[in-house]
Amino acid sequence: MKHRNLLMIPGPVEVDPEVLAALGMPPVSHVGADFIEVFGSALEQLRQVFLSTDGQPFILAGSGTLAMDSAAANLIQPGDAALVVNTGYFSDRFAAILQRYGAQVTQVGAPPGDRPSLEQVEAALQGAAFKCMTVTQVDTSTGVLADVQGLAGLARRYDVLLIVDGVCSVGGEALNMSEWGVDVALTASQKAIGCPPGLALLVASPRAVAAFRARQLPVQSYYADWNNWLPIMQSYEARKPAYFATPAVNLVAALNVSLKQILQEGMAARVARHAALSRACKAGIAALGLKQLPASSEIAAHTMTAPFYPAGVSGAEFLAQAAQAGVLLAGGLHPALRTQYFRIGHIGAVTRADILATLAAVESALAAGGYPFDPGVSLSAAQRVGRGQ
Ligand code: PMP
Repeated sequence: MKHRNLLMIPGPVEVDPEVLAALGMPPVSHVGADFIEVFGSALEQLRQVFLSTDGQPFILAGSGTLAMDSAAANLIQPGDAALVVNTGYFSDRFAAILQRYGAQVTQVGAPPGDRPSLEQVEAALQGAAFKCMTVTQVDTSTGVLADVQGLAGLARRYDVLLIVDGVCSVGGEALNMSEWGVDVALTASQKAIGCPPGLALLVASPRAVAAFRARQLPVQSYYADWNNWLPIMQSYEARKPAYFATPAVNLVAALNVSLKQILQEGMAARVARHAALSRACKAGIAALGLKQLPASSEIAAHTMTAPFYPAGVSGAEFLAQAAQAGVLLAGGLHPALRTQYFRIGHIGAVTRADILATLAAVESALAAGGYPFDPGVSLSAAQRVGRGQ
């Protein structure tokens, strides 16, 4: 009998055994030939996963928040104007980080579950000479997907740096850094990258690196300072040893395997798989009569689903029952709605079988809560989507 539940939260996620095997190897020297090759290859592959032709990749020991911190610390000088396109909890976090480094932050937002229109963002861009604009590609608190390509078009037109928080999206949603004109895209190892938590991942465009080099004041974070990390990343990619702070050697080895798997699947195929599994999951949830947080299916993420509980079903009890049925789901996160909805992550190595198991557990938990429905209705809806009906 299996003694662990299926992990279907929006990160950390289920991890492929080959990736776990790399993690479990004896640690190696961070300046030894084997690790230099692994780190160099991970950096090269990271650039490809972000679909960047000329960006500078960074792999740092830390979480997604460190990647956000690193972008803000290196690009913001006190007094710089920054625009935050706000779709929830993690957009609020970016605003707080930017402010910590002295930015004058303007926000353009929308009610929970919605996103500001490109017209609203453009109107905001006309209001001040912004140095940068941040957007959360998938805000994990709402499951809302931003129009990163549209925002990148505006960023280029108004000559601002576009920083994309892709923690819940890179490797699952379409993101074409170079073609779209994104300046910084960042994520963490534990989501669509398919690794355990522990690595902050970031790619900076040549425009972003030039903006960093043009700064007059020192970077206010010692650990995150690109002056420390740029030579390290460049050395490893040139297959030369270098040291600033000890890399997380096992995690980098796991990342190298996971990135290889992602590129073997192919970015387009991977995005299509996430979209297909998301459609199946959302169809199953809809068939149960549960509403979802995103205002429309066009702006709903493909890496997660955020259904509202039906009236009369208690969130805490529902999540406990789903776990009892073998699947771990996440509660709500947006402060305004926290107790009213739950979150299903379908990210990374996720399969159709995982979606069906998840819907079955959702049904068990709803049934335990006394909610009436036809048993199996979500599974057959999901199966029909799978057959393209
Ligand atoms: N941004 C988004 C969109 C996220 O989903 C998360 C993590 N859930 C973060 C930032 C922060 O990442 P971490 O928890 O790895 O610091």
